[in-house]
Amino acid sequence: MTGGTIVMAAIFTAPHGFTGVHGTDTALIHCIDFRFVANTHAFLREGLKIPHFDLVSIAGASLPLADEGAPKEWRDAEFDLAGLVIKLHGVSQIVIVDHMDCGAYRAVYGSAQGEPAQGEREENLHCRNLRRAREELQQRLSTLRLIRTFLIRTVERDGGSFDEFVEIE
Ligand SMILES: [Zn+2]
Repeated sequence: MTGGTIVMAAIFTAPHGFTGVHGTDTALIHCIDFRFVANTHAFLREGLKIPHFDLVSIAGASLPLADEGAPKEWRDAEFDLAGLVIKLHGVSQIVIVDHMDCGAYRAVYGSAQGEPAQGEREENLHCRNLRRAREELQQRLSTLRLIRTFLIRTVERDGGSFDEFVEIE
């Protein structure tokens, strides 16, 4: 098809709500894992009262920022995107959310150290990496005024499974 008129018919329509708005003060960094996306977005909106945020989604969330053992492409992409949301949208705070039972943690730490990163060992790695990620971002992106870091733990309670969001200081 060359030179013809392209017909674009909408198959879905929703209210936009942001006409004339180009900035947000917050960016969220979370893992690509589909199991945690909806609850993490609800946590920002309802738990932290942050209604709108830019999104950077990379496997392992804090891991590529914190550990040079992560694949270089992940690390480069994550630092680049964090810099970009600041430049394009004026972001001044970043929220990083890790989750337990993370495949990226198993891929990077399981193979390197011969045992899977699970349970208490995985929890310790998340705490270390979230703190390191915060330091790395603060050093590289000096205009950031706030970086908050959280870990999701899935718990069984009252006959159901629930995602708990714990702040890592
Ligand atoms: Zn993950």
